[in-house]
Amino acid sequence: MADRYDLVVIGSGPGGQRAAIQASKLGKRVAVIEQSDQLGGAALRAGTIPTKTLKEAALALTGATRTGVLANLSVTRRDITFGELEAVAKDVVQAQLRVVEGAFARNRINVVWGQGRFEDEHTIVAAGKAGDKVLTAERFVIASGTRAARPPQIPFNDQTIVTTDTLRNLGRMPLSTLIVGGGVIGTEMACTLSALGINVTLVEGRDQLLGFVDREIIEAFQTAIRRLGVTLRLGEKVHKIDEAAGPGGVQVVQATLESGKQLRAETLIYAVGRQGTCKALCLEKVGIVYDDRERLQVNEHFQTSAPHIYAVGDVIGFPALAATAMEQGRLAACHAFGEPTRSMTSLFPYGIYSIPEISMVGETEKSLTEAGIPYESGVARYEELARGEMVGDRDGLLKLLVHQQNRKLLGVHCIGTSATELIHIGQMVMAYNGTVDDLVDNVFNYPTLAEAYKVAAHNAVNKLPPA
Ligand SMILES: Cc1cc2nc3c(=O)[nH]c(=O)nc-3n(C[C@H](O)[C@H](O)[C@H](O)COP(=O)(O)OP(=O)(O)OC[C@H]3O[C@@H](n4cnc5c(N)ncnc54)[C@H](O)[C@@H]3O)c2cc1C
Repeated sequence: MADRYDLVVIGSGPGGQRAAIQASKLGKRVAVIEQSDQLGGAALRAGTIPTKTLKEAALALTGATRTGVLANLSVTRRDITFGELEAVAKDVVQAQLRVVEGAFARNRINVVWGQGRFEDEHTIVAAGKAGDKVLTAERFVIASGTRAARPPQIPFNDQTIVTTDTLRNLGRMPLSTLIVGGGVIGTEMACTLSALGINVTLVEGRDQLLGFVDREIIEAFQTAIRRLGVTLRLGEKVHKIDEAAGPGGVQVVQATLESGKQLRAETLIYAVGRQGTCKALCLEKVGIVYDDRERLQVNEHFQTSAPHIYAVGDVIGFPALAATAMEQGRLAACHAFGEPTRSMTSLFPYGIYSIPEISMVGETEKSLTEAGIPYESGVARYEELARGEMVGDRDGLLKLLVHQQNRKLLGVHCIGTSATELIHIGQMVMAYNGTVDDLVDNVFNYPTLAEAYKVAAHNAVNKLPPA
């Protein structure tokens, strides 16, 4: 006998959670199918929360970012184990898990453990340890996320050659590691591990890390990450990875680059690309196709080609962030049950939890130049700010991009302490169509890092034609 629901959500990550909670708030009967043994998706298991906690723990234990007046307080601990770090991460994950479980319980959302697969347009089977459970629903939201790509030519052994999904298998802290892929995940990982005293070499095929980030910010970042101790191999592609005998006959991982260089380390973390998980969903039974990376296409309401089946989060590709997955889930559930909403905002920030942090919102100098929009930039360096001096941040920088004629704020780019928090001030000014003068005319707490907005705004105004 099938259990009947108004909405069945596949996946309990950020996208699925928000879709389920929103539908429940609209008075709908909701079930979430989850194939792993824990709620929360990649965000809680191996992604957002564990990696950010790992970074915070690394900073707390080593004092890696203390410079200037705080440098003397720095204690470098190279003997920290992954176990110690995992213990910190586990507490945070458990606390977040309780939040998710509480929200599901309060909203009477049924969790069905098992792997979901469609049987027909309104029937789905959850294949779990206790057998198959059949569910029918009027509407569905696919929020099945992604997993780390595992190209067949890479000899993963999940012990010394791992992906970010299997990083925890490393067990003890290696002395050295190669990281392949200078995107967000690879770069963040390189910073955290380097802060822990691991000898990190980061290999990236393009000439710069984080290709989508503002050039001035990335130049500052690449200097900072090198100073942190990371060796960058930019413009280099990996040709072959194998295991080899190192000094004293100890097994090491060897990466041969297309340029002929050979790099050796105790471990290798492969951080290139994520892959959808659509195959298991039997989407052919409902006439939905997915691309070669198992990702789905949706319209502006997050409907797939079957209008009663929605898809949100990483499974639909860009921008593949936890925060955007949540908002997409909320909007999909509202649309599915006729609740009026605004469309998804295009104004969302990026946060890169590297050391130092990077964050951005809106346009870049490149996108404005390509679009032929006349702009001016205003910059504030943390070293100009009293608070910047106090926190000893040598790299911090906030850059505003301002329309030369109407003085509207078009983009904000930030590197340094609290960049991922500071960005929201600029985001809100932009969301309300604010101008650079709004920043000049407002009073900020002193001393703060947020004061950078006012300093950068003055800097931009000095260069703008008179208002
Ligand atoms: C290392 C790493 C670091 C990251 N850091 C950040 C960050 O700092 N900030 C940020 O915003 N984003 C970050 N992300 C991205 C973020 O984790 C994702 O954008 C977010 O988790 C996507 O949410 P989702 O709901 O689409 O899918 P997911 O969180 O991937 O959840 C999908 C869920 O669906 C389940 N599932 C899949 N198939 C089925 C099936 N057939 N049946 C039942 N269940 C199924 C899975 O088990 C999983 O629980 C990071 C990702 C990684 C890997």
